[in-house]
Amino acid sequence: MTIRLDETHDAKRQSWVASANGHTDFPIQNLPLGVFSVRGDTPRGGVAIGDEVFDLKAACDAKLFSGDAEKAARAAYASTLNELMALGAGPRATLRKQLSALLAADTSESSRAQPLAAKLLHKVTDCTLHLPAKIGAFTDFFAGITHAENGGKRRGSNPPLNENYRYVPVAYHSRASTVRPTGVAVRRPYGQRLAGNDKLPTFGPCLKMDFELEFGVWVGNGNAWGEPIPINKAGEHIYGYCMLNDWSARDIQRWESAPLGPFLSKNFGTTISPWMVTPEALAPFRIAQPARPQGDPKPLDYLWDNTDQREGALDLDIEVLIHTEGMRAKSMPPQRISVSNTRHLYWTVAQMVAHHTCGGCNLEPGDIFGSGTISGPTPENYGSIAELSFDGTRDIPLASGEIRRWVEDGDDIILRAHGRRDGYAAIGFGDCCARMVAGKGV
Ligand code: MN
Repeated sequence: MTIRLDETHDAKRQSWVASANGHTDFPIQNLPLGVFSVRGDTPRGGVAIGDEVFDLKAACDAKLFSGDAEKAARAAYASTLNELMALGAGPRATLRKQLSALLAADTSESSRAQPLAAKLLHKVTDCTLHLPAKIGAFTDFFAGITHAENGGKRRGSNPPLNENYRYVPVAYHSRASTVRPTGVAVRRPYGQRLAGNDKLPTFGPCLKMDFELEFGVWVGNGNAWGEPIPINKAGEHIYGYCMLNDWSARDIQRWESAPLGPFLSKNFGTTISPWMVTPEALAPFRIAQPARPQGDPKPLDYLWDNTDQREGALDLDIEVLIHTEGMRAKSMPPQRISVSNTRHLYWTVAQMVAHHTCGGCNLEPGDIFGSGTISGPTPENYGSIAELSFDGTRDIPLASGEIRRWVEDGDDIILRAHGRRDGYAAIGFGDCCARMVAGKGV
């Protein structure tokens, strides 16, 4: 689905909301959707603009929207955006156009909105940001080929990748009930694992806690059970994007994942950034899917679409930062430990959708995908601590004088993403951040 660039992408467009015009993840060209509450009131739909949250219900009650945009804003009165997401791409794009006009500094529509600023805007620091949708299902892909190869090497597989990898967008069904938005601490899981050189398992806290730098994909309108989504229609079903930390207990994973896939090593918690960045906002950052290395097979026909190959990948800078207790005690800022880019994914999002549904599985509004860990080709691009510390065998030195081989209790792990392109406003996703805290035995 090609999204045309229009006045909402104009880099010169400024907002009457002053904080949207400076250094921010949320300039007027972004307008991501989310769910917020203010001082304990009812959660409802909102839009991030600078340091503020724009209240869709207040705007709709003030009759600022018309047509499909009004229908979309009304669906966002709810405490989850599933109903809005089920409306699909059309109303979302119309809402964006009207929002952009209302929030712009130089339009006739803005003169209707600006006098109502006190009702329409809430300082984000006064707000609680919630999950944007009730998540029915969470599927985690494995589309970062370098991460997949590094994992194979650690396990001693030769070749490191299974033969299916270049044919199948590999994934597993993960756990929806434990996905939490940014800011919610995650408890270190207890489970069975081989500690040290033990040959037999013991039960205890995870000793090899890891993060995974992933890109999250929100499903909008779904498909009927038994009716696959062809790849050239996949874009119509994607509602938005977020950053996703697929916390991973590597010692539990190593012991339990033979022959089936991850279970308790992944189901204790996943952190996502709370704003859904829309396909419209990301349109300037679309790129061709990078050519496959020579010798790799062409994807099977149901995974191949010329338009998808031409513009189905994204060029987003992504990074991981750590903020330890030691750093906080010394008032030091978070430290970046990895930089990568979404262009390193081996499969496009459309290929994931086409593959997920090709056997008849129905997707539903509010389902979420993780991309898989997006490691780049060199060690400074590795998107998990297992890769950065070479499976816990090398120290990662931190500016605070501390070292890490795995994530420790009290560490904040922060994922960020930014789209940057000459001639366009830079946009960001907002932090995907959570603290790892001590767990609780049985
Ligand atoms: Mn993962």
